[in-house]
Amino acid sequence: MTRRILMIDDDRMQYRLTQAYFKKFRGEVFTLDWAATYEEGLEKLLEGLHAGCLLDYQLGERNGLELIRAAVAAGSRTPIVFLTADSSETVDIEAMHAGALDFLVKGEISTRALERSLRYALKLGETLEALRKLATHDQLTGLLNRREFDHILAEERERSKRFGHPFVLILVDIDHFKSVNDTYGHPAGDAVLQEIASRLIHALRDVDRAARFGGEEFALIIMQADRKIGFDAARRICAAVASKPVSIDGGPELKITISAGVAAMPADASTGSELIAAADKALYAAKKGGRNQAVAFSELPQVPGPGREG
Ligand code: GH3
Ligand code: MG
Ligand code: MG
Repeated sequence: MTRRILMIDDDRMQYRLTQAYFKKFRGEVFTLDWAATYEEGLEKLLEGLHAGCLLDYQLGERNGLELIRAAVAAGSRTPIVFLTADSSETVDIEAMHAGALDFLVKGEISTRALERSLRYALKLGETLEALRKLATHDQLTGLLNRREFDHILAEERERSKRFGHPFVLILVDIDHFKSVNDTYGHPAGDAVLQEIASRLIHALRDVDRAARFGGEEFALIIMQADRKIGFDAARRICAAVASKPVSIDGGPELKITISAGVAAMPADASTGSELIAAADKALYAAKKGGRNQAVAFSELPQVPGPGREG
C-alpha cells in the first residue's frame, strides 16, 4: 500500500503543481491528498492516517503555525514539512519550534528538493517516534515505564481535580516471585514478567494505563472509575492471572498469582503520592492476608494519622 501525504493549502494550483512533482519522484511513490482549509486540514491530520504533511503558511484567516500548534496539542505526531511563500526567516524558525520537521520556500521548490525534504522528514519522524517509545516504555515488558507513569498520574490527578473525574490506582505485585528466579533462573523470571504484563494489558480497557512500577510490581490506572469499579477490576485481574498456568518455552508450567492494592482518587487521596501510599498499604494487607487477592484501601482499619484528633 502506498503511503499517503496530506497537503494543506488553500491554493488549488499549488496542489496541482505538487501532484506533478510527486509523479516525478525517483524513490517511494506517495499518494497526495488535499485539504483546502484550516479546519478540514486539521481534521484530516488528526485522523492520523497520513505518513506526512505538507503545510502551507497562508490559510485564509488562519495560518499554518496555528495549525501546527493545534495539531501538536491534540497529540498528533505526523511529520510536517512547512511551506512558506516568502523566505521570511522568522516564520521558518517559528514553524520548526512549533514542531515542523523541515521547511521549504515555495518559490524554490523542485522535484528533488521536495522529495528529499519529505523523505528526510518521514525518516526523522520515525526516529523520533522510536526514541519516544524508548524513553517512555519498559524494555522487557513493553508497558509504560515508571517515569511515564509518574507523568500520567500527575496529569490524571489534575484532570480529576478540574473535571471531577474519579480514577483508581491498582498496585500489583507478583507473589513469591523470587522463588521463580531461584528455581528456574532469571531468564525464566523475565519470561514470567512478560506474560503477566500481557495478561494485565488484556484485562484492561483501552483507556486504562499499565506501567512497570518496579522489579515485579505493576501500576494500573483505571480511568473514570470509583472505589467499587476499581475494586471489581482488581479482583477480575487477580483472577485472570491465576486462571491458567504460565508456561515457559517447552519447560515447566508455573502457577503464578498476584496481589493487588486498590486506592481511589479523590475518595482515598488528594495527591499522587498519597494515592500511591494508600494503594501500597492495601497491597501490603493483601500480602499479609494470604496473597492472590485484591484489597481496597477503604476497607483497611483506619489508623488516625499524626496530629489528627479522634
Ligand atoms: P512476595 O510475595 O512477598 O511479593 O514475594 P516476592 O518473592 O515476590 O518478593 P521479593 O520482593 O522478595 O522478590 C522480588 C524478586 O523480583 C526479587 C528480584 O530478583 C526479582 N526481580 C526484580 N526485577 C526482576 C527482573 O527484571 N527480572 C527477573 N527475572 N527478576 C526480577
Ligand atoms: Mg515486590
Ligand atoms: Mg512479589
